[in-house]
Amino acid sequence: FIEIKDVHKSFYQNEILKGIDLTLHKGEVIVILGPSGSGKTTFLRCLNTLEKADKGQIKIDDVTKDFTVKDRQNTRDLILKTAMVFQGHALFGNMTVLQNVIEGLIRVKKMDREAATKIGLSTLDRVGLSDRANYYPVQLSGGQQQRAGIARAMAMQPELLLFDEPTSALDPELVGEVLSAMKELAQEGHTMIVVTHEMQFAYEVADRVLYMEGGVVVEQGPPEEIFNAPKDKRTQQFLARLS
Ligand code: ATP
Repeated sequence: FIEIKDVHKSFYQNEILKGIDLTLHKGEVIVILGPSGSGKTTFLRCLNTLEKADKGQIKIDDVTKDFTVKDRQNTRDLILKTAMVFQGHALFGNMTVLQNVIEGLIRVKKMDREAATKIGLSTLDRVGLSDRANYYPVQLSGGQQQRAGIARAMAMQPELLLFDEPTSALDPELVGEVLSAMKELAQEGHTMIVVTHEMQFAYEVADRVLYMEGGVVVEQGPPEEIFNAPKDKRTQQFLARLS
């Protein structure tokens, strides 16, 4: 369903991604773990072209994007297949929550405002924010802002949802509500790649956990296997440091 092949990315002389391969089935939830600086964020950003990979390919359904080939239509096709939820502060402050959620539908998907509003409201409802549609981001808690960010990504109905440490900027008491919203999406069958340090979430929700270090995938497998019986020394050391 989704095939990612040989993604490379360097910043200056620094090779941050050294050939990442990943195949996902429809509805699969992948959690990526790894120490700071291992390239997790860079990998997600390459997948939806926020960062330009030096080499590699992604195939989602009928769209194949070779990162070395410049082709605006092809890039646009890929962007429509993916959506990203960021760490925080990603909403437009001068727009209401609803406007934030429908902006992409109107501008990118060229939907008329009425149709977009309908989708926007139902998406907000799914993350429990119907009553906040006309608020501005500053009037929301951090957890509500993150759920609005999730609604904005979901409204685009992407094939692949990318989450870049969506709870890491939140106060501890707000983490739970965002993780539950993500868990619901997973249960509804969305295909997701989640970079997180929330081990409990990884354990409960992931179909597969990937451990990344130094720009490579060191090890991957079902959460029980990675957490209870990691094979690689690097994974063992990383998990030992957490406990
Ligand atoms: P964290 O868990 O801390 O977010 P990460 O695994 O997501 O880490 P990345 O954010 O992908 O790691 O960063 C990997 C490396 O790439 C880091 O050493 C970082 O300094 C470097 N890097 C990322 N973006 C840039 C950039 N735009 N220019 C130069 N170096 C960059």
